[in-house]
Amino acid sequence: MKVYVDGQFLDQEDAKISVFDHGLLYGDGIFEGIRLYKGCVFKLEEHLERLEYSAKAILLSMPWSRQELSDIVCEACRLNGLTDGYIRLVVTRGKGSLGLSPKTCTVPSLIVIADRLWLYPPEYYENGLKIITVPTRRVNAAALSPGVKSLNYLNNIMAKMEADRLGYIEALMLNDQGYIAECTGDNVFICHKGTVWTPPFSAGALKGVTRQAVLEIADDLGVPVKEENLTRYDVWVADECFLTGTAAEVIPVVEVDGRPIGDGTPGKMTEKFLTEFRSKVAKEGTFL
Ligand code: PMP
Repeated sequence: MKVYVDGQFLDQEDAKISVFDHGLLYGDGIFEGIRLYKGCVFKLEEHLERLEYSAKAILLSMPWSRQELSDIVCEACRLNGLTDGYIRLVVTRGKGSLGLSPKTCTVPSLIVIADRLWLYPPEYYENGLKIITVPTRRVNAAALSPGVKSLNYLNNIMAKMEADRLGYIEALMLNDQGYIAECTGDNVFICHKGTVWTPPFSAGALKGVTRQAVLEIADDLGVPVKEENLTRYDVWVADECFLTGTAAEVIPVVEVDGRPIGDGTPGKMTEKFLTEFRSKVAKEGTFL
């Protein structure tokens, strides 16, 4: 596999960064996870825009234009002979001293990895996920905005580990007020009486690209959507629940905290959103 690091495509074994990189030392950097479907990069502009916003939010000035980033992403896919896959784009603050100050980091680093994709097994789409609310709260937006897709994922990793140790594949995370924020790597939706609800960004949710695609689909289908604070109660009594993310796409949730959601099987609206999402990815995208 060829990996892009700071201006060059290198063999995987040679793709290295400095131990003084602040991305490694402090999680000081940002990233994107992007999907390639049948030779087409899905929502590339949206991912690059979110990357630019993340950079702006952490005062990291990126020397690459959107076009340059787009070209590198496409080239990484072509060079690795991929038609379907997952692209990880990472920007770190770059090499600096051991001190916290980013002032010592003068040149940011850019890494692009285009690889095959790890997917949830098909039975999760057929039978749905069982998830659990974990005690670890989503980081407060006043401490670090969850809107920034930063390299600092320890908060989400702690939550994921809590779920894993209890035998669950995914964790539902609440914010410090007790409202639903998101899962560790996916946004959350519920459906009730024909309306779709998802937490607002202010509740601590990432501006998910898949979330936005699902909102577009809901609009096309004429399904009403509400972006409102949700509690665990709202989830427990919902007809349906599903998660969205670049890797997961749209995946049904059939159980939360040991309670069946709806009749405990993947819901009809969820299935419709998944079908529509898959047809959207087949129609839209940036050709390599
Ligand atoms: N929330 C978090 C915390 C994430 O890391 C992600 C991305 N995996 C998402 C939500 C979903 O975002 P997207 O649809 O852009 O992949």
